[in-house]
Amino acid sequence: MLMILLSVMLGAVIGSFLNVVIYRLPKALCGEEISLSFPASFCPECLHPLRWRHNVPVLGWLLLKGKCADCRSAISPSYPLIEALMAALFGWVVWQHGPSVDAAIILFALCLLVPLACIDAKTMLLPDRLMYPLLVSGLAVAFAGRGRIDWQDACLAAALGYAVPWMLSKIFYLLKKREGLGGGDIKLFAALGAWVGYTQLWNIMMISCILALLSGLILLKVKSGQAFPFGPYPIIVTILIFLIN
Ligand SMILES: [Zn+2]
Repeated sequence: MLMILLSVMLGAVIGSFLNVVIYRLPKALCGEEISLSFPASFCPECLHPLRWRHNVPVLGWLLLKGKCADCRSAISPSYPLIEALMAALFGWVVWQHGPSVDAAIILFALCLLVPLACIDAKTMLLPDRLMYPLLVSGLAVAFAGRGRIDWQDACLAAALGYAVPWMLSKIFYLLKKREGLGGGDIKLFAALGAWVGYTQLWNIMMISCILALLSGLILLKVKSGQAFPFGPYPIIVTILIFLIN
């Protein structure tokens, strides 16, 4: 029980760091003078640095009632939500697997998958700086014999995860003369394949296409031809696979 409580607290702290990654990495990639460690956390509106007690995960936001202490402008609820999400994920995984290497491996993957989904949803970018570590670590885990699949399956799924969407996007381009899938989405399937193997990769592709179609066409009423972030769908399905088995 204590172990799970500690995991939840660790998850909240890591969620707080992932917020920084989600906020800053796309800006840094667009050439802004910002890095993950510098400057210290600040309000994006008035640029005032945050006081330490407001930096406490979830509680800091509640303490401020969602507003900056200096300029009173609203702070997005996405910050405490990511912290709460990571706290819940850490608690769940440690509850399922105990404080083990298996749990650490899953949590490592989640710490790459969650920011990738958020950054893609916000900016339609899937930064290589998160994507390559995801691919390489997936393969490394399989080679070390610690994953859910063997290394042959991981390599095959990574290769097919790249090749099949790449071919589909070429065919789509020939037919429609516009991009159907971004290059990032293609790399994403390779990286996910390295983690889950090819059987699960097909499931992820099928389910995420159906989800994207449903939400794209019905909920968001995306106009034909308008681009929308696809990455969050396969990432969410992958996270669910990690959580339930
Ligand atoms: Zn402010």
